Amino acid sequence: MPPEKEKTPAPPFGGEQFRQLPWLMLAMVILLWVIGSYIIAPGYVKAIPYSDFKGMVQQGALEEVVIAPEKVRGITKAKEGEGRLTYEAVKVEDPDLIKELDAKGIRYTGETANPWLYFILSWVLPLLVLYFIWRAIIGRAGGGATGGGLMAIGRSKAKVYMEKQTGVTFDDVAGVDEAKEELREIIDFLREPEKYRRLGGKIPKGVLLVGPPGTGKTMLAKAVAGEAKVPFFSMSGSEFVEMFVGVGAARVRDLFAQAQAQAPCIIFIDELDAMGKVRSVSPVAGGHEEREHTLQQLLVEMDGFDTRKGVIIMAATNPPEILDPALLRPGRFDRHILVDRPDIRGREDILRVHCKNIKLAADADLKLLAARTPGFAGADLANIVNEAALLAARRGKDAVDMNDFEEAINRIIAGLEKKRRVMNKHEQEIVAYHESGHALVAESLPHADRVYRISIIPRGIAALGYTLQLPTQDRYLMTRAELLDRLTVLLGGRTAEELVFNEVSTGAQDDLAKATDMARSMVTAYGMSEKLGPMTYEPGRRPLFLEPGMAAPRAELSEETAREIDCEVRALINKAHQRAEKILSTRRDILETLTRILLEKETVEGDELRALIGAPRATEAK
Ligand code: ADP
Ligand code: ZN
Repeated sequence: MPPEKEKTPAPPFGGEQFRQLPWLMLAMVILLWVIGSYIIAPGYVKAIPYSDFKGMVQQGALEEVVIAPEKVRGITKAKEGEGRLTYEAVKVEDPDLIKELDAKGIRYTGETANPWLYFILSWVLPLLVLYFIWRAIIGRAGGGATGGGLMAIGRSKAKVYMEKQTGVTFDDVAGVDEAKEELREIIDFLREPEKYRRLGGKIPKGVLLVGPPGTGKTMLAKAVAGEAKVPFFSMSGSEFVEMFVGVGAARVRDLFAQAQAQAPCIIFIDELDAMGKVRSVSPVAGGHEEREHTLQQLLVEMDGFDTRKGVIIMAATNPPEILDPALLRPGRFDRHILVDRPDIRGREDILRVHCKNIKLAADADLKLLAARTPGFAGADLANIVNEAALLAARRGKDAVDMNDFEEAINRIIAGLEKKRRVMNKHEQEIVAYHESGHALVAESLPHADRVYRISIIPRGIAALGYTLQLPTQDRYLMTRAELLDRLTVLLGGRTAEELVFNEVSTGAQDDLAKATDMARSMVTAYGMSEKLGPMTYEPGRRPLFLEPGMAAPRAELSEETAREIDCEVRALINKAHQRAEKILSTRRDILETLTRILLEKETVEGDELRALIGAPRATEAK
């Protein structure tokens, strides 16, 4: 794909070169043969019986004879067009030979066997060959088990790759426009580091690309290097985990040294989570020590170098929650960019990128294919195109048609279903109503945060869809009315499901947990219940009312108070539920339209939503 691509394994014994094992052996054999036939016996030697040799002596055909302990060699006189030939025969006890040579006037020399040469050729060389073959086999099989003494070094899979030119551009990565937008600044910086240096602008050192596998994080990092035309260094975090103590850290040090020499450039660490998991509490846990050494070295290197030189560290990870907080501190990976699964338009674009070099039949409709593949990541789509092209080729077609694509999709879905759930049509509908419910309630209430985006693309592990709300301003305090609106929004999803399907799904469980938690805090911590009055029923104030999820420590309560609290919590939730229900049933038509649009487009931006709803909110939240 890229015109010039240089991949250099950094360590000399990386294991990569043993891919050419057969060639290595062939070269050895040829070498042996050359040594055997040219160095010991120069020229082409023809073996003949001793009687023939004797005959040649008697005919006077030879010019020179060499007598070795076990062999005799005769060199013929130069003949027209033939040159001198060498014949060799195994010596036979023949006391008359010398006399005959003397008689014919043939020059003869004796030759002693060279014991060293003989020894080297017959013992040392074969042993060397065996040794190399053995090394090669060990190098290939290595990697799995840990603890192999010194061999672990030669066996390590961890490699640092350097590509002078990745050849990947932003055009090759589709459906991740927001991430690209955020990366533009970094490209600018890499192109002209001096400009930024002069202006004293602050450039992030570390950029963390967060998203599910196969969404194009590696590709994006390569595209940044490609767009900026700078070298791209990469290594994979997981390869360092099983390494021999000290080697991982040394590699990291080496990587940064190499990169700094090549600045401006990009260092990319794939699977950062494998290397940067939260460190174990006890330092003598063992087993993870190497990972911690490596991580420590990475932190040291990140702190130690100066961004202004033009080195940007990018890393990819799926779950950022498990990362060691030290990695996320300012000056390290403090810039996070979300690389999510693409929506329907993004999928169409990705399909188009991958179909660029494929001959499509007239009926191939990429839009339709995008609609058939909800939840697919870029890598899955690339797979589909590839599989479809293979199917078409196997069937002897000269263009890839819709049948091939359909079959490819079915195959890929079957494969994916083993790994993760792919939503069916009905489930998608439920999720769409659910999220529309949240969004519509939020936009109908005066104090709720504005909806930024609704989506039915699965995000993370648990969420099937999401409604993103952004506060209009930073909040330090919240009023009772605001909290009540928030509660109502949380219940909006479940309420919409009830309204439409007359039953509820398990998808609302997280909302309910959050709502209950919030209501309980209102009653017990903020004194917002009329019945119980302005009193706190908790030992300490909850540190963050905006952060539900963590159960508050219960104070010692009388049974009666506890019952009253439960009652009040239930009342708050019921009230919120009723409000949500009222909003959704009076605006049922909008709920339906929004759901249709959401099912079709998969994501709806806040502005589109407000345009659809039309009427501005009763009172603008301030
Ligand atoms: P990640 O690093 O997020 O796991 P990769 O960047 O390795 O994903 O993507 C794997 C392959 O999937 C890429 O080589 C590319 O062919 C395809 N791919 C993934 N995302 C995209 C995208 N957004 N646009 C085009 N191709 C993509
Ligand atoms: Zn919800």
